[in-house]
Amino acid sequence: MKRFFLLFSLLFSLTLFAKPTVTVSIIPQKYFVEQIAKELVTVNVMVGAGSSPHTYEPKPAQMKMLANSDAYFSIGDGFEKAWLPKFKSSNPHMLMVDSIKGIQKIAMSGHHHEGEKKGHEVPEELDPHVWLDPMLVKIQARNILDALSSLYPLHVKTFEQNYDEFIRSIDTLDATIQASLKEVTSRTFIVFHPSFGYFAARYHLEQLPIEVSGKEAKPNELATIIKEAKEENAKVVFVSPQFSQKSAQTIAKQINGKVLTIDPLAYEWHENLLNIAKIFQSALK
Ligand code: ZN
Repeated sequence: MKRFFLLFSLLFSLTLFAKPTVTVSIIPQKYFVEQIAKELVTVNVMVGAGSSPHTYEPKPAQMKMLANSDAYFSIGDGFEKAWLPKFKSSNPHMLMVDSIKGIQKIAMSGHHHEGEKKGHEVPEELDPHVWLDPMLVKIQARNILDALSSLYPLHVKTFEQNYDEFIRSIDTLDATIQASLKEVTSRTFIVFHPSFGYFAARYHLEQLPIEVSGKEAKPNELATIIKEAKEENAKVVFVSPQFSQKSAQTIAKQINGKVLTIDPLAYEWHENLLNIAKIFQSALK
């Protein structure tokens, strides 16, 4: 009987202390949630390494994994529009958390609306890359803290401490980036896919995108970009691993600049932004 009771209590505590799971859309969000939850929660990511959140579709196995999630943290990216309602309807118990609640989005650059008739205002597409501005990540962190606290009230104290620490590290990161980009003389950079709109806005840089409305630029569009790049004395073309490098190489050759790879979706978000700032610093001086 005693042995049975021991076994019973062991099983009971295993279920009690089984790690809860939450799901996020993109890899940097996993980093954000983990800064606040640390090892208390397992974080599952929908858009895996090498995929673009703008064109992503979940695999059946991933839909299954959602069934174990207590919450879904959305980021407002393209695929969510079609998929969030499905995630919710197949997992009615799952808490849906808008992790960018309170963030004012800016217009996506690189969408040329030439030939539009007046009176036919097409709503401008909003830039989804909100996770690349540290100040906006502070808003996300707050939303994550609130959601985790309501889900797992036992750990509120720990979450709050971790949150405070995360916010302090973001402030340090922001100050470091500010300082390293202060002396940069040429502030324009070319980028294949315009992921750096918020980063550029925060640190007074200008991104010149190659992609036009989500497509590779046509030869005449490339010529325009090259002309503009020369005028702005841009010397570097950034590409991300998720996108084509072809037109980036063409432009780099034309402006006598170089192609550098930066990944807007890396897991080590803090390290990655520091590194991006360093690359900008040495490439734009
Ligand atoms: Zn993107």
